[in-house]
Formats: sequence, C-alpha cells, structure tokens
Amino acid sequence: MSTMNTVGRPTAPNEGLDANYKPATLTGGRGLLQDEPLIFEGEGWGKTGVDLPKPANDGSDLGDLVRKDPIGLPGLSEPEAMRHYVRLSQKNHAIDLAVYPLGSCTMKHNPRLNEKMARLPGFSDIHPLQPQSTVQGALELMDQLAHWLTTLTGMPAVALSPKAGAHGELCGLMAIRAAHQAKGEHEQRRKVLVPTSAHGTNPATAAFVGYSVVEVAQTDDGRVDVADLAAKLGPDVAAIMVTNPNTCGLFERDILEISRLTHEAGAYFYCDGANFNAIVGRVRPGDLGVDAMHINLHKTFSTPHGGGGPGAGPVVLSEALAPFAPAPWVVNTGDGYKLVEREEDEAEQAFGRLCAFQGQMGMYVRALSYMMSHGSDGLRQVAEDAVLNANYIKARLEDLMSPAFPEGPCMHEALFDDEWLKGTDITTLDFAKAMIDEGFHPMTMYFPLVVHGAMLIEPTETESKAELDRFIEAMRLLAGAAKAGDVDRFKGAPFHAPLRRLDETRAARAPRLRWSAPEGSNRAG
Ligand SMILES: *Cc1c(COP(=O)(O)O)cnc(C)c1O
Repeated sequence: MSTMNTVGRPTAPNEGLDANYKPATLTGGRGLLQDEPLIFEGEGWGKTGVDLPKPANDGSDLGDLVRKDPIGLPGLSEPEAMRHYVRLSQKNHAIDLAVYPLGSCTMKHNPRLNEKMARLPGFSDIHPLQPQSTVQGALELMDQLAHWLTTLTGMPAVALSPKAGAHGELCGLMAIRAAHQAKGEHEQRRKVLVPTSAHGTNPATAAFVGYSVVEVAQTDDGRVDVADLAAKLGPDVAAIMVTNPNTCGLFERDILEISRLTHEAGAYFYCDGANFNAIVGRVRPGDLGVDAMHINLHKTFSTPHGGGGPGAGPVVLSEALAPFAPAPWVVNTGDGYKLVEREEDEAEQAFGRLCAFQGQMGMYVRALSYMMSHGSDGLRQVAEDAVLNANYIKARLEDLMSPAFPEGPCMHEALFDDEWLKGTDITTLDFAKAMIDEGFHPMTMYFPLVVHGAMLIEPTETESKAELDRFIEAMRLLAGAAKAGDVDRFKGAPFHAPLRRLDETRAARAPRLRWSAPEGSNRAG
C-alpha cells in the first residue's frame, strides 16, 4: 500500500510512519541541492583547472610595481567550478525554468539561435583594438543592426554604444543638452518634465545631467494629463520624457498632441522606448514626433538579462539631434566599413563618447539574429502576441482581482491594484511571496507608484497558451485562498524557497558577504 503526500501523489511505501514527518536537514542541504560556502571562501583550494607552462622569461617590465602577494582568486578544478555555478543557478529562478512575469522587464525567451550566432568566432573572438580592416564583418553587422533599428523606428540615426536603457537615457539627454547649447538656449532651459508614472531611471537621468525634474500629472485613465503638460511647458523646458506605451501598460492616445506641444515650446521629446516590444512593427516612433528614444535590446530584441547584465540600449535620434550623437558609429565608405571615432573625423559635433569602445557586441549579434530570424512580419507578430497575451491574463483574472484601469484593453502588461485584497489582511507583497511557493516568479510589485499596491504582469509574447493557463490557474487558486481568509499561507510565504523572506533593505545597506551555516543545520561554518 502507498500513502499519499499532501499534493496527492503516490509516495514510496512507508507504512507505520508519519507521512507528514519532515525534519530539518542536518547540513542545510535540501532535495539534492547542497548548501555551500561562497567560491572565494573555500579552504586549501590552491590549484588551477589547467596546467600552464612556466613562462620562459620570469622577468617583468613592471619593476617595483610587480604584485608581491597572491591575488586571492579561488583555486578550483573545472568540476568544482562547474558544480558551484550550477548549484547557484538552481537556487534561483530563470526564464528557462518557467514564466517570469516581471512587468516592465520583458523577461522573454532568449532564442538559442541568437546564442549560436553570438558564439561564432568571427564575432566572439575579436578585440576592439584590432585594425578595422580585420573586423569588417563585425562592422557590417553593426551597420545592419543600425539599419534595422532606424527602419523599425522611422528615425534617421542611431547611437549604438549605450549599455543599458538608463545609459541610453543619459545619451539622449546629453544629445538634447548639446542641441540646446548649440542654439545658445541651454542656460534658459533647465527643466525636464516627467510624468508621475515614469520609471525611476527617467527622473534620475534628468537630475544626473543637471536638469531639475518637474512632475506631470496623470489622468484617471492612466495617461499623461495633457492640460497639465501644456501648462508646464515653456521657454525654460529642455525636454519631456514620456514612456509609450507607458508603465501602466497603456498607449498614450494623445501622443501626437504631446509632441506638437513640446516642439511648439522649443523642447525635445525624449521617449522611453523600453516598452517597444508592444508596438514594434506596428508603430514607428519617428511618426509620433519623437526626438530621441532608447531601445532595450535586452527587452524588445530578446538578449539575456537579469542578474545584472549585460544589456544594450541604443538610442535612435531625430534629424535635429543626430549631429550630436556620441562617437563611435559605423559608415559604409563604399570601400569597406569604417568606425567614425574622433572629433577630427566627421564627429566634430558629437557630445563625446559613452564608453571606451563600441558597446556590447555580443548583444548586437543576438539582437540582429532575432530580427533577421523573425523578419518584419515576425516582429509585427511579436507586438501583437505580447499584447494579446497580456489581455488574455487581464480578461481571465479581472473577475477575482481588480484591474487598475478596467476601461478598454491594455497593451503588453496587465496592471492590477490591491483593492481586491481589502479586508483580507494580505498585502501585495504577501501575495507575491505565495506565488513563489506555487512555482511562479512574482510579477512586479508596487510599480508604477501611481497605483496602490500595484501588481504589474508582463507575460511577453513567448509564453504559449498552455503556460499562460497554468499561470492563470495558480493565480486564481491563490486569489481564492486569499479571499477565503487563508492568511497564514500568505503571511509566512515563501515556505518552499531556499530562503524565506529577506530583509531587502538591510541586505542592500549592510550586505553580509560571507557564508554562514544554514539556520537549524548542525554544521560548523
Ligand atoms: C527597463 C526600463 C528602463 C531601464 O532600462 P535598463 O536597461 O534596465 O537600464 C527604463 N524605463 C523603463 C520603462 C523600463 O522598463
């Protein structure tokens, strides 16, 4: 006879034992996953994974500057290094494991074809200081990527080198500042207008470039309040920064009016293009009057991100801003490709450069691979499926949860508030933690700030209906439990993750950088 465990699966015969007995493990390990020190804390690891021949010449050109002590790198064999990183990866969520519905982040599948292309030796084994004649293929790829980006956005120029969306914002605002300087208007134009729902990087970038940030109100239906914008525009405004579709997952219906008013006031329109995956192939930002917009290659064009990098945030620029684009860029001379790098070349108006070399080459290869394998029709379908999937989620959950903007369809994200949790004593945070126990990464919480207890769900276009249905089922079951008053399930969650609730503020302010034996284990450490 077999007994049933709590989820009703048959387990091995254990007649006479308490089926619910679940001791803490002695080592802190759990279910084939060991708990271990960090890689640089290992003891007696004075080895390397490879045998290197002793250099023929022991002398050094560094004289007195030569290092006297070991550098302190962990010495590991290949299997030790492999296992350490595979174990770490198993403690974490990944897009290759399941849905990753983190709103605003566009966590979609990274096609393996991209990876194969990025590993071609002609792209992966080159050095940025190689003579340009030896990297013509790589330069041609950058030129083609620039062609796709300008074509898809309907903009005349692009600066490829920014290394993230936020870096792209910096690039765009520096181009805007250079344009105002060239017109002699910089001194009088010291303000940047930013809607209240903006991603935090927008006001941060404006402040970093030296502007003062003025907030623009939002209407009850989640869009920019055009009357408030018009009232705040004037000869002291350098630019507006507007996200479209915005961070509430809604298209800015008045976008043409917004750009008209902005240009009339002599300001530039910076568009945060992080949500370009919702409109790619359908709408060209150039047709909306945008002057500068970053494109997160790692979001819209599927290059891997999360865990800190690498990203790529090329910025498309209008005719008015193009002359100020940062070096370098690629030109086709008819006799090969050339990087324009210096002010004495054609870059005399460039505001400078944003990074030492050309940007994230590996991301360029992946993004172009994604574009070419989809084609223009496929990219249009990306936008259509991203929007369809988000609306499917909204439609299937709106009877139980409360959509922040119930009127009409959404774009690529379904946004709920916490109105539906009222009276349950369960918060957005509690709900998110319980999702982890059910096998799902939480949605984005408490952003955008304009929505109380926000839950921002972005399924992306790469989830199948079957995956979405599994996610929706879990959400419905959890919402049912919340409404039925099953508070403990939420307050204590996550129960099944490698770690429970972390004090995230303390972790950021006073990080503990050394391993200690897991609580409740019998280990020394
Ligand atoms: C992701 C995002 C950014 C910032 O992009 P990074 O590549 O993370 O720097 C800016 N704005 C919005 C709306 C975003 O979603």
